[in-house]
Amino acid sequence: MIYDFCIIGGGIVGLATAMEILKRQPGASLVILEKENVLARHQTGHNSGVIHAGIYYAPGSLKADLCKRGAEATKQFCREHGIKFEVCGKVLVASNALEVQRMEALYQRSQQNGLKVERLDAEQLRQREPNIVGLGGLFLDATGIVDYREVCETMARVIRRDGGEICLSQTVTAIQESADSVTVSSHGGSWRAKKLVVCAGLQSDRLAVMAGVQIEHQIIPFRGEYFRLPAAKNNLVNHLIYPIPDPELPFLGVHLTRMIDGSVTVGPNAVLGLGRENYRKFSINWRDVTQYASFPGFWKTLWQNLGSGTSEMKNSLFKSGYLEQCRKYCPSLEVTDLLPYEAGIRAQAVMRDGSLVHDFLFAQTPRMLHVCNAPSPAATSAIPIGSMIADRIFQAG
Ligand SMILES: Cc1cc2nc3c(=O)[nH]c(=O)nc-3n(C[C@H](O)[C@H](O)[C@H](O)COP(=O)(O)OP(=O)(O)OC[C@H]3O[C@@H](n4cnc5c(N)ncnc54)[C@H](O)[C@@H]3O)c2cc1C
Repeated sequence: MIYDFCIIGGGIVGLATAMEILKRQPGASLVILEKENVLARHQTGHNSGVIHAGIYYAPGSLKADLCKRGAEATKQFCREHGIKFEVCGKVLVASNALEVQRMEALYQRSQQNGLKVERLDAEQLRQREPNIVGLGGLFLDATGIVDYREVCETMARVIRRDGGEICLSQTVTAIQESADSVTVSSHGGSWRAKKLVVCAGLQSDRLAVMAGVQIEHQIIPFRGEYFRLPAAKNNLVNHLIYPIPDPELPFLGVHLTRMIDGSVTVGPNAVLGLGRENYRKFSINWRDVTQYASFPGFWKTLWQNLGSGTSEMKNSLFKSGYLEQCRKYCPSLEVTDLLPYEAGIRAQAVMRDGSLVHDFLFAQTPRMLHVCNAPSPAATSAIPIGSMIADRIFQAG
C-alpha cells in the first residue's frame, strides 16, 4: 500500500503535524513511525512543562508569532480534551544593575509583542513572592504549565480516531525518495508514502543525511539538568520564577518551575552532552561524541562560548555553584533542597561556522520535509508549527 503521508518522530511536533494533516484532508492515509516504545520519550517528555507567553522573541519574528498562537492553541486543546493545565503566571527577576537594564529592554519587547506585562519594583516583587528577592521584576500572567506527555497521548488518540496509524518501536534506518513516493525502512518493515515529514529532534540531522539531503549543520546535544525541591517546599513560590536571561545565550537560565503535579523543579542549566540520548550524568555515547568532535562548527562554537560554557560545566559538577544561581533570587534555598530529577537533552543545531541556530530550520525536497531545528518553545508552539508544516507540504502539491 502507498500511504498519503508518513511522519517520522512521535514527539509533539510530529504528532501536531499528523493531527493537522488529518484535519485538512479527512480520510487521508497516514502513518507515524517512532523508534521508542512510547511517545514523547525525548525532548517533549523531558522539558519544563511551560506554556510560554513569548516575551523573549524578537517582535515580528516567526518564533514570537508561533509562540503567541501556540500558547492559545495549547490551552484551547487542553480545554477541549479535559487535560489539566494551569495559567499560573511567571515572574522574571532582575538581581543586579545589568539585569535591570536587560529587564527594561525585555519590557519594551513585550509591549511590541502585544503582551500584558506588569513592572514590579523590589517591594511589589516581595509582596507577590515573599521568598524571592531582587531589584525589580516583570510579571506575565499568561504563562501556564501542563504535562506535555499527556498532551501527546491525547494527540495520539485524536490521530487514531481520525484514521491515522502509529507504529512504535520502529527505528527508521533507510529513506529513499523516488519520483512518485518515498520508501522508509526499519528493521521491522518498510512503508511507502507519497509525502514524508521528518520530525526526529535529536536525530534529525542523521535522518536528513540518510535521505540524501544536503545540510550545513549538525545537532549538538546540550543537557538541561534539573533538581526537584522537597515536597515541604512545594509552596515556596506562587508563580514560575525566572532570572533575566543573557540575550547572547539561547537558554533562559536556571528557573524555579511549578509543575502540574504540584512539585517544583529547579533548572535547567545548559551543558555540553556526552550523548544525544544519554540522560544519566557522565553516560557517554562514543559515536555521538566522535561525530561532533569531528565537526568544525563544534570547535568554533566551543571557542565562541568558552566563558559561559566553562561556568555552566563548573556549576554542573559542583552543586554549590548550581545553587548560587538560584540563591541569587531565592536566598533561602539550601544545597539539601536540591533533590535528584531526570535531565532533558536539547537538540541544538550548530552551523559549520559555529553559529547556533536560534530559529526553525527546514529542508525540503519534492516529496520530503525535514524539520532540522525545532527549538524551545516548540512544545508551546507545536500546534501552529504543525499547521505551518502542513501548509508547506500541501503547497508543494
Ligand atoms: C530541557 C528542556 C526544557 C524545555 N522546556 C520547554 C518548555 O518548558 N516549554 C516549551 O514550549 N518547550 C520547551 N522545550 C523545547 C521542547 O521540548 C522541544 O522543542 C520540543 O519538544 C521538540 O519536539 P520534537 O517533536 O521536535 O522533538 P522530540 O520530542 O525529541 O521528538 C523526536 C522524536 O523522533 C524520534 N526519532 C528520532 N529518530 C528516529 C528514527 N530513526 N526513527 C523513528 N523515530 C525517531 C524520537 O524517538 C523522538 O520521539 C524544552 C526542551 C528541553 C530539552
